[in-house]
Amino acid sequence: MQTIDLRSDTVTRPGAAMRAAMAAAEVGDDVYGEDPTVARLERRLADDLGFEAGLFVPSGTQSNLCALLAHCQRGDEYLVGMEAHTYKYEGGGAAVLGSIQPQPIPQAADGTLPLDALERAVKPDDPHFAHTRLLALENTWHGRVLPQDYVSEAAAWARGRGLGVHLDGARLFNAAIASGVPARTLAAPFDSVSVCLSKGLGAPVGSVLVASAALIKAARRWRKMLGGGMRQAGILAAAGLYALDHHVARLADDHARAARLAAGLDGIADIRVIGQFTNMVFIEVAAERLRALDAHLKAHDVRASIGYLPSVRLVTHLDIDDAAIERAIEVFRAFGH
Ligand SMILES: *Cc1c(COP(=O)(O)O)cnc(C)c1O
Repeated sequence: MQTIDLRSDTVTRPGAAMRAAMAAAEVGDDVYGEDPTVARLERRLADDLGFEAGLFVPSGTQSNLCALLAHCQRGDEYLVGMEAHTYKYEGGGAAVLGSIQPQPIPQAADGTLPLDALERAVKPDDPHFAHTRLLALENTWHGRVLPQDYVSEAAAWARGRGLGVHLDGARLFNAAIASGVPARTLAAPFDSVSVCLSKGLGAPVGSVLVASAALIKAARRWRKMLGGGMRQAGILAAAGLYALDHHVARLADDHARAARLAAGLDGIADIRVIGQFTNMVFIEVAAERLRALDAHLKAHDVRASIGYLPSVRLVTHLDIDDAAIERAIEVFRAFGH
């Protein structure tokens, strides 16, 4: 039986058409700036999202790190959600490699960083303190689409305080499809935006950072230093271009399947559905039954993120069809009693 892998939308495998696009890609040495396919991908996302320039990088982690290094100097700090990917799930890279201090802010349940908490966190210009330099937001956050009114307000507040504004938009297109607001509008309040190609968009590798030409120039230098200067990377960029052409509108299917999954799990004894947000479903199971759930799912070839967050996370993606959702629901039903 084929495994139904609901751990993450990163587990997708490129299909035949994407692989054909990769094989056909025109390439050159991108460190010399000579890969036409990488250039096309960078141009495409910069234009689509309304920025001067783009930078293709191997991962979302490196994209966020290049952005933080480009925005901040040693001894600066950035304001970031306590449960934000950039703070919690990127190995502390900004601090380790950039001597940039994170100032984590507890997030509200909808993923917003309350403006009064942000205001309190800005440090005075005094030798006791790090220089507060940047606000970093995340959209979607745990699948949740940030309210765009909040995003505009937070960005305006940051500007008023002389701070830059970065968006970890790993799943920006999920936010756009779910809200019906164009990605370009969602990106407009920011100085820099990072978008993952290897999540819901289904490319095997890569993220793109978009920003002003000056910021991208600085980020490009950091990318090289971090070991992210790739040579004939057009083979990978071609997958990203293919994904942008073919895998954006279909994110609505992932969201609909997540909603169906949440509805199917609702009412199963021992399982509490916390919520469904874009392509993610969060459920809760009594702590003493978590191990049993893990074993049960494994025995039935279903995979979920267990023990990574306080709740169990189920994520829909390109390789999960309607039949997979129905089978997953059956497997969970057999667990509940
Ligand atoms: C996955 C993810 C990243 C990092 O992407 P990688 O390519 O795995 O390094 C950054 N931010 C968010 C919100 C993510 O989900």
